[in-house]
Amino acid sequence: MNNAAYLTVNAGENWHEFVLWCISQNYGGIENLSLIPGYVGTCPIQNIGAYGVEVKDTITKVETLDIETGKLVQFSNKDCNFGYRNSIFKNEVKGKYIITSVSFKLTKIHHKLNSSYGAIETELSLKQISKPSLKDISDAVISIRKSKLPDPKEIGNSGSFFKNPIISSSQYLKLQKEYARIPGYKISDIEVKIPAGWLIERAGFKGKRYGEFGVHDKQALVLVNYGNASGKEIYQLAQKIRETIIKKFEITLEIEVNIIK
Ligand SMILES: Cc1cc2nc3c(=O)[nH]c(=O)nc-3n(C[C@H](O)[C@H](O)[C@H](O)COP(=O)(O)OP(=O)(O)OC[C@H]3O[C@@H](n4cnc5c(N)ncnc54)[C@H](O)[C@@H]3O)c2cc1C
Repeated sequence: MNNAAYLTVNAGENWHEFVLWCISQNYGGIENLSLIPGYVGTCPIQNIGAYGVEVKDTITKVETLDIETGKLVQFSNKDCNFGYRNSIFKNEVKGKYIITSVSFKLTKIHHKLNSSYGAIETELSLKQISKPSLKDISDAVISIRKSKLPDPKEIGNSGSFFKNPIISSSQYLKLQKEYARIPGYKISDIEVKIPAGWLIERAGFKGKRYGEFGVHDKQALVLVNYGNASGKEIYQLAQKIRETIIKKFEITLEIEVNIIK
């Protein structure tokens, strides 16, 4: 039996509801991306990712409307030029196309489950699940996210404010001499990805509140607006964090969110 499920989903569908629907149909591939806020149409823009999975690995095609010509234009997976929290829609063609639908290739039977992420493993073992289903993974992700990330309906935030920086292996070895417990994930023979949240926490920002804004107390990668802070104040805090991280670790943090000037 064919293992592939091909789906084309309109841009205005809610992302998390789509993920849950796929799980109910036993379609695998995006269960680790449960509970990411937003719509299906925006998932390719920053190639949403979480817990070891990126949406780019399931996208086959993105259909768009060219704002200038009014014509429909299709982007293949390759055309999208996907990267880590990145795509052509954030760069070369930013603002030029309206995404109308996204096509996915998911699995029907032989799912490639990704439960290797530390927190997912812990969550599954707490529940004594050794052979997880798609729903088990999704439930674990939902539970981890609810425990660590503030709900934007309660505390204003835009999720991870910075990307996890990628540094050279030699710089990583140098940092390890000073910070023996610095976490790093080898992504090639010469590069290591560092959790930005760890750097921000080590720089002393985790849980810091400055009046109406601050750094979340459970996840240092998330900047929060407790009510009446302005975008400028949040941006200034981001810049302060970036400067501190450069001074302390010689690492430049790249901002993940869109800054509207
Ligand atoms: C609490 C929280 C947790 C998050 N966790 C994650 C995470 O784990 N991983 C992750 O990758 N992201 C995460 N994010 C970021 C966010 O969920 C994603 O970037 C998501 O794709 C944004 O979807 P949206 O529909 O809300 O887009 P918006 O933020 O509304 O829009 C994003 C950009 O896309 C443009 N746009 C919107 N619709 C279209 C369209 N149809 N065609 C063309 N352009 C369009 C907008 O103008 C804007 O520039 C998180 C955000 C929050 C608040």
